Amino acid sequence: MNIHEYQAKELLHSFGVKVTRGHVAHTVIEAEQAAIKLGCKNWIVKAQIHAGGRGKGGGVKFARTLAEVSEQTERMLGMNLVTHQTGKAGKLVQKVYIQEAYDIGKEYYLGIVLDRRLEMPVIMVSTEGGVDIETVAAETPEKIIKVGIDPVIGLRSYHLRKLAYGLNLNKAQMKEFSRFIPPLYDAYQKTDASLVEINPLVLLKNGEFIALDAKLNFDDNGLYRHPEIADMRDETEEDAAELEAAHYDLSYVKLDGNVGCIVNGAGLAMSTMDIIKQSGGEPANFLDVGGNASAETVARGFDLILRDKNVKAILVNIFGGIVRCDRIAKGILEAAREIHVHVPVIVRLDGTNAKEAGEILQEANIKEIIIAHDMREGAQLAVQAAKGDR
Ligand code: GDP
Ligand code: MN
Repeated sequence: MNIHEYQAKELLHSFGVKVTRGHVAHTVIEAEQAAIKLGCKNWIVKAQIHAGGRGKGGGVKFARTLAEVSEQTERMLGMNLVTHQTGKAGKLVQKVYIQEAYDIGKEYYLGIVLDRRLEMPVIMVSTEGGVDIETVAAETPEKIIKVGIDPVIGLRSYHLRKLAYGLNLNKAQMKEFSRFIPPLYDAYQKTDASLVEINPLVLLKNGEFIALDAKLNFDDNGLYRHPEIADMRDETEEDAAELEAAHYDLSYVKLDGNVGCIVNGAGLAMSTMDIIKQSGGEPANFLDVGGNASAETVARGFDLILRDKNVKAILVNIFGGIVRCDRIAKGILEAAREIHVHVPVIVRLDGTNAKEAGEILQEANIKEIIIAHDMREGAQLAVQAAKGDR
């Protein structure tokens, strides 16, 4: 799960991380009140959307007067902000963050993520702050310094020294840096975050470090432990179909191909996508209906997948371990009738009661439903059907 910058800053502040002073505003009046409350000389007005790169897209603006705060807020609210992270469609700006403007000495990059290869969290820093870190990683990877933190040992001063040396900090800066990082790492761990990104981390003219921007992602599986974070969810920022799937406990990710897939189990779902590709096709989605596939979940799967107009065929690939294939077969028939499935549906059912399932499907004699005897045949039939030759 993703949250907005202003929420991330509030959360980090509660852990003792130094963040910018600022308030969220939903209207021009709220923005002016926020600016007055801050009592500073200059402000920054920042569009709040779940995407970065706002600065370049016109979503981060300097304001010298209260009138400019109002002007910029008025311009941003309701604007469709396009950045390199939003895609062409852009994102609607529904709130802004009114922030005190700071005198920047230098901008750095800082990120904390789980490195699955190292099997531990890593803290990454770079002197190339404020810019696209992906570009730095691609063009000058030596400018990114990484330190793995073994969770058994925890964050130690030698980790901090290694990062600080990498940034060429002097003694006084190093001391400030060593104060800034621990509460941030603490927040990463205690909130079950999957990503903490401070870009830029700023060294102010007065010698202090401060988080000028903040991005937090959370592991959804840990959210039940943090109801206060789960409450920060802003569903208007998320993909509608993926959101609905999540409400039904289905893992759905939309992709660009034309072969829809309904599968039980994440591993089987991934191998189904692989075999579709090997058969010369492109999957339209990842969909794991879960270990307890039922007639209902299959019907919801059809419903979700068919909203995508690219889908030209659907491959149902279900292995009956705990679930019984004959029940699934009945579910498929019901769903196909109810939802008016108008594309070919290739069904591969194997495992418990697979034989009965085959008979049920055959007897129903629905022209859209094609029975496959194994996974490869299923994938090939689905790819052919999507190409229009069956
Ligand atoms: P992003 O473009 O979505 O990543 O938004 P950021 O919060 O990172 O802001 C973009 C840029 O605006 C930063 O890299 C800074 O250069 C600039 N900026 C943001 N806040 C301030 C501020 O308080 N003072 C100054 N001088 N620049 C700022
Ligand atoms: Mn940023």
